[in-house]
Amino acid sequence: MDKSKCLFCDIVQGKLPSTNIYSDDQCIAFNDINPVANVHVLVIPREHVTYLTETTKQHEKLLGHLMRVGARVANQMGTAEDGYRVTVNQGANAGQIVDHLHLHVLGGEQLNSLGTTLENP
Ligand code: AMP
Ligand code: ZN
Repeated sequence: MDKSKCLFCDIVQGKLPSTNIYSDDQCIAFNDINPVANVHVLVIPREHVTYLTETTKQHEKLLGHLMRVGARVANQMGTAEDGYRVTVNQGANAGQIVDHLHLHVLGGEQLNSLGTTLENP
């Protein structure tokens, strides 16, 4: 995908607005525009990485960092103690719509059980 047309690269570059929940040299975190839980924050790398399945060994440090920032954000949003979920939607069946790797941090309330499908909601 052409990263000059990437929504999340535009957010990283400040061309599109976002809420600033967390930011460092490797990633940023902001509220999802269409939240599906009381807490719904996206953690994205500053670098344009498209898919989890396309990451390589060279991304391991970054992936680890993103997970730790997810935990930090959950703590910051007050949902660490009661629990939260960190999710990556990979590809069509998982509902990935933005082709720039991102973690969803979901919490702030009781979440649906993991792995529900359209047929078995
Ligand atoms: P995914 O389905 O995993 O690709 O998730 C993409 C997420 O990005 C969705 O939950 C959208 O609501 C969210 N999203 C799309 N555009 C924006 C935006 N401009 N600011 C914040 N979140 C966005
Ligand atoms: Zn991008």
